[in-house]
Amino acid sequence: MPPHHQKGWTMLVNMREILDDARTHNYAVGCINTPTMDLLRGIVGAAEDVGTPIIIDHAEVHDPLVRVEDIAPYMIDFARKAKVPVAVHIDHGVDPTFIWRGIRSGFTSVMYDLSTLPFEENLKRVTEFTGIAHSLDISVEAELGVMTSTLHDSHGGPAAPADIRETFTDPDLAATFAKESGVDALAVCFGTVHGMYVEEPKLDIEHLTRLRAAVPEETALVMHGSSGVDFDQIAQAVKAGATKVNYYSYLSAEASRFAAQLVAEAGKPVFYHDLTEATVEHIRTTTTELLTVFANGHTF
Ligand SMILES: [Zn+2]
Repeated sequence: MPPHHQKGWTMLVNMREILDDARTHNYAVGCINTPTMDLLRGIVGAAEDVGTPIIIDHAEVHDPLVRVEDIAPYMIDFARKAKVPVAVHIDHGVDPTFIWRGIRSGFTSVMYDLSTLPFEENLKRVTEFTGIAHSLDISVEAELGVMTSTLHDSHGGPAAPADIRETFTDPDLAATFAKESGVDALAVCFGTVHGMYVEEPKLDIEHLTRLRAAVPEETALVMHGSSGVDFDQIAQAVKAGATKVNYYSYLSAEASRFAAQLVAEAGKPVFYHDLTEATVEHIRTTTTELLTVFANGHTF
């Protein structure tokens, strides 16, 4: 029996259960968008290879690519059949209609992202939502601070100011927000941006340490915009208390790079199914390296 079964976990789980275990043992759980079947197969396969729990998510900005009602049955089926615990999560939900469509489709967790609103408004709306979501056994993530984005971003968000520190999450406000809203996870800013990096990112690990010390222990801290951050800095952030790490842009672009190279080097027509099979394997090995960094030496 796999160890996760011994813990009494079913494989489709509430995000809170996954994050509680990760916080307790100081490892991080990857949260990766799965808008295509190839990404879904590669990412869940990698989590099984490493033995780590995983969060797969559908972003509101990806809904025009594939509707949440269409992708949810696949994501949930993969979660149920996985050899590791999997949470199925809404990423950067802003529009309540989209969020409720996700919940109705069976998602076990929601990021309600009102980070562009003033603090009081963000807190008020997230608190209201969290009360309802928790009564339905759905986990909630919110965001505080404004995560900026690059030209190659898929999530949107404002461009970075000259001094990125202006966007950092304030530790006292984060503590108040977490206590009053009751969210399970809080996305915070300490140096990452969404999308692909134009210049070398530098995380402020001391700022993350201050955030971790200020925010109640039961609230997991989340790092978004991790694509392109070197593994050493990611490892430091995990050690300092980043429990959920969102990652997508680099992995997606790397899959395309691999597929393009495979076609270019084949010297003959390539069947699409052979291309996707090889790409799924590449996504799986690339994600395995990543999830191993997130595991922070923890054996599952
Ligand atoms: Zn994000």
